[in-house]
Amino acid sequence: MRPRALITATIALTTLVAGVAGPAHAKPAGPAEPPKTPVARGYGGAVSTVDPTATAVGLDVLRRGGTAVDAAVAAAATLGVTEPFSAGIGGGGFFVYYDARTRKVHTIDGREAAPASMTETSLVNPSTGRPYEFDEARISGLSAGVPGTLLTWQDALRRWGTRSLAQMLAPAARVAEKGFAVDETFASQIAANQAAFGQFSSTGALYLPGGRPPAVGSTFRNPDLAETYRLIARRGTDVFYRGEVGRDLVATVQHPPLAAKPVGAWPYPIRPAGMTTADLAAYRTRFPEPTRSDYRGLQVYGMSTPSSGGIAVGEALNILERYDLRSMTPEQAMHHYLEASALAFADRNRYVGDHSSPQVVRELLSDAYAKERACRIDASAALPKPVAPGVPDGAYGGCSAAPAADTRDDRKSTTNLTVADRWGNVVEYTLTIEATGGNGMVVPGRGFLLNNELTDFNFAPTQGSAPDPNLPGPGKRPRSSMSPTIVLADGRPFLAVGTPGGATIITTVLQMLVNRIDLRMDLPQALAAPRASQRNGTTQAEPAFIAAYAGKLPRGHAFSETAEIGAATGIEFLRDGRMLAAAEPVRRGGGAAAVVGRWGRG
Ligand code: GLU
Repeated sequence: MRPRALITATIALTTLVAGVAGPAHAKPAGPAEPPKTPVARGYGGAVSTVDPTATAVGLDVLRRGGTAVDAAVAAAATLGVTEPFSAGIGGGGFFVYYDARTRKVHTIDGREAAPASMTETSLVNPSTGRPYEFDEARISGLSAGVPGTLLTWQDALRRWGTRSLAQMLAPAARVAEKGFAVDETFASQIAANQAAFGQFSSTGALYLPGGRPPAVGSTFRNPDLAETYRLIARRGTDVFYRGEVGRDLVATVQHPPLAAKPVGAWPYPIRPAGMTTADLAAYRTRFPEPTRSDYRGLQVYGMSTPSSGGIAVGEALNILERYDLRSMTPEQAMHHYLEASALAFADRNRYVGDHSSPQVVRELLSDAYAKERACRIDASAALPKPVAPGVPDGAYGGCSAAPAADTRDDRKSTTNLTVADRWGNVVEYTLTIEATGGNGMVVPGRGFLLNNELTDFNFAPTQGSAPDPNLPGPGKRPRSSMSPTIVLADGRPFLAVGTPGGATIITTVLQMLVNRIDLRMDLPQALAAPRASQRNGTTQAEPAFIAAYAGKLPRGHAFSETAEIGAATGIEFLRDGRMLAAAEPVRRGGGAAAVVGRWGRG
């Protein structure tokens, strides 16, 4: 809904984040972070992100009469400053929008695209004939896709917003210029990337001042990024897709800015690649129909290809709908959650990629197919993994199966945000530069990191004699797992959730939905609950999940422990008209939820 009557004259953007970052001189140790509250209930709009400054910026836009789309773009632009290792204009993402006026869900596919020069064997080392190691491909020009984030913001604002891109970039530019306090997460993400960042003059100068990560509590400024945002504000997105920022980006891919004196050693040669200014000029966002799966009377909307998120979450829900999880013991409910997830992953790996046919997507999301898949689940034992994909050919009956094939995929970075406004519009947005730190290259003089999204392609065929849907190709977009999800009840918002976490995104979104819809948890509990991720192999799980369930589940489950999975955000629309915004209480340092007006309990 476009609340035109409420659009005030130009908002005073110069003051927009004065209360957010604070003037740099006010506190010598660095501007104070706004409070990090993981749960907020109230009315008038809500924001949940992983970062208190981004949440404060989004909330300020809502307070001044902006819509959910306006606030989501302003918050995302701020995340590009404060969470630069997860997201930014060097990357891509998927934007899901519920329009309260039409009661329709729309999506924007702002996924990075392969340059025209990419081929099926671009991620195979020509001198050995073997796929590159992951880090070898990642820290190179080969992994960088043509970014889609800036056009996503522009298109979202043009279609559904009430503010200009220039207006929504201004608060983020101010945060970049004035600085923000370095927290543990920021410093540790640099430390984890020190060897890669230290190879590049631009990245080292920005993120390794004096050869090491900035101290926790110090003020971090990124004047180049402030200037880039302002240049885009003045000249529009063409300066990026057709102008000098784009030329610098392409030069970085073609001639990685190697440091004369690297900080530390890197074990691989750093390869350039062939992205061109024509690739940038050819980039387009897409507006695919959302996926839809009806679950226990609710309508679950997600992201279609090139993401596998909406399809895999939807298929797993359709399988689970055949069981009454509520009346099961928690162990049986978790057993079914894990098994449904494995089955959906087998299908995702076999059938889902940028060029999947609409027919296959429809079949994978059909109840008849889910019924056939569900009959493979055995209540008394876990299926041996990997399970085979099914055959979504429209002819369903018994438990048919195709031969099994192996997969990999469990990296994590990325960020997610959820925004709702007073008119009932909702945005669920997941954006990324792929690995934490992307491809390690800051575009010199421009202040942002490039993505390594093209490593989301399979480097070599994974499906045996069957075709692999996710091999690289010219202009193709790598398969994603990002799963921004909006759930409606009778056409009105009930819930919006999303998370980062590579392929674990799918299972985390699925688990949060099961926790909330079936297991009687409220949204904050559904987010906080210990997580497990079954992706058709050994189940990856947090220690608290293993402590609670391992040994109590039916036989056959195998776990590998991982410290934490995901960093989710969400909003629930309560029956009394309030919104309940939730972010992580602990994972990745905790997130920040806020509402425009507080009212009633908590
Ligand atoms: N590149 C991943 C994807 O699109 C996301 C990375 C992450 O969340 O860590 O699925």
